[in-house]
Amino acid sequence: MDKEVKSLCYAFVSKNIEVYIPDNNENVFIASKLFCKNCEEPWYTALQECFFCGEINYYVYICTNCKSLFSLTASNLKKDDIKKGKEKCPVCSSEGTLGQFCINENCPSNNDNVIHSKVKKFGGIFMKDSPFSLSLIHCINCGSPANFYKSFLIAVEVINENELGNKTLDKEKLLNKPVDFLIIKILREENNELNYDIKTKEELREHDNIKILKKFQKIDDLINYIFRF
Ligand SMILES: [Zn+2]
Ligand SMILES: [Zn+2]
Ligand SMILES: [Zn+2]
Repeated sequence: MDKEVKSLCYAFVSKNIEVYIPDNNENVFIASKLFCKNCEEPWYTALQECFFCGEINYYVYICTNCKSLFSLTASNLKKDDIKKGKEKCPVCSSEGTLGQFCINENCPSNNDNVIHSKVKKFGGIFMKDSPFSLSLIHCINCGSPANFYKSFLIAVEVINENELGNKTLDKEKLLNKPVDFLIIKILREENNELNYDIKTKEELREHDNIKILKKFQKIDDLINYIFRF
């Protein structure tokens, strides 16, 4: 697999697309993404939800005394101190009231003293190693528990911008494979500019003279185009 194709795969991975590279030397890969079966919105597997009420993780520390919220990354609060109940709330100065608790005020983990004290021992619902959070098991858009993968086999051609006018695609080679899309990565040396064109298998099959165009510059646009199908 070419370096340029590999870097395209990494770009997909960085956008939370699952990528499988078949065990051969061809420039193809499989891109998969999870969707809700009911509403077809993307399914966020990286998210976590509260075991007790299903509320999602907002990545904040919550003070149970003054209800202030603090971002995990922006605040200077120390995770270890919070776990030990030693950190002071920057707003109300209470000690041992901070944790990655559930944001839902009606959650049993906030209202039930027995449950709350158990959760607190772990630094909250969403603290790392806490047994009280789950990977997202419901769609955040419609609540459905059912999901499915969309997967596509994608072939990649890499060309230089100065080849744009006279490049002909080896259609037969592509059409003999079970590919769904061909991505053409167009390189431009001077300013590292990247452009992409993408053709569906149908476009490749139905048209004889296929022009390569600079359709997309952003990887997000490319990914959105693919997973609309
Ligand atoms: Zn909860
Ligand atoms: Zn406080
Ligand atoms: Zn849904």
